[in-house]
Amino acid sequence: MTDVYSFQPLMVRRPYRIEYIHSYGEVSQFFLGLKEQKLYASRCPRCGATWLPPRRDCGKCGAKCNWFEAPTEGKIHTYSVLHFAGEAFLNDLPFVLVYVEFPGIDTVFLSRLVGVKPEDIVIGMPVKARFKRLVEWNANDVYFVPA
Ligand SMILES: [Zn+2]
Repeated sequence: MTDVYSFQPLMVRRPYRIEYIHSYGEVSQFFLGLKEQKLYASRCPRCGATWLPPRRDCGKCGAKCNWFEAPTEGKIHTYSVLHFAGEAFLNDLPFVLVYVEFPGIDTVFLSRLVGVKPEDIVIGMPVKARFKRLVEWNANDVYFVPA
């Protein structure tokens, strides 16, 4: 039986649950690396572009990229202090997202920054990766702290 809350507009209550099998496909190595407390990036053998987050195919020339182990220390490229978020992150508010620059990597990596007050964050600040011991096989298995 469906609960009806109103007729104009029609509003009903229904349970909603989705469970699915998610394939990481060609970027599986990145997520497997997080369990080993490593960051895996990809490098294009044709043009030399480096990608983190990794790409299977080069975004510049389309060649299939190769894996390599990226540094786990970098510096803050930019950051945001979030006071609003999706339902899954409401309990974490406020939190800080950073784009991290790594030596030898052409892209920046979006992640969380913890262990520092927002007013103490400085662009260019050195940071280092930390990894969750119990992985959940998602991008939140890595986060950053001041180096
Ligand atoms: Zn390329």
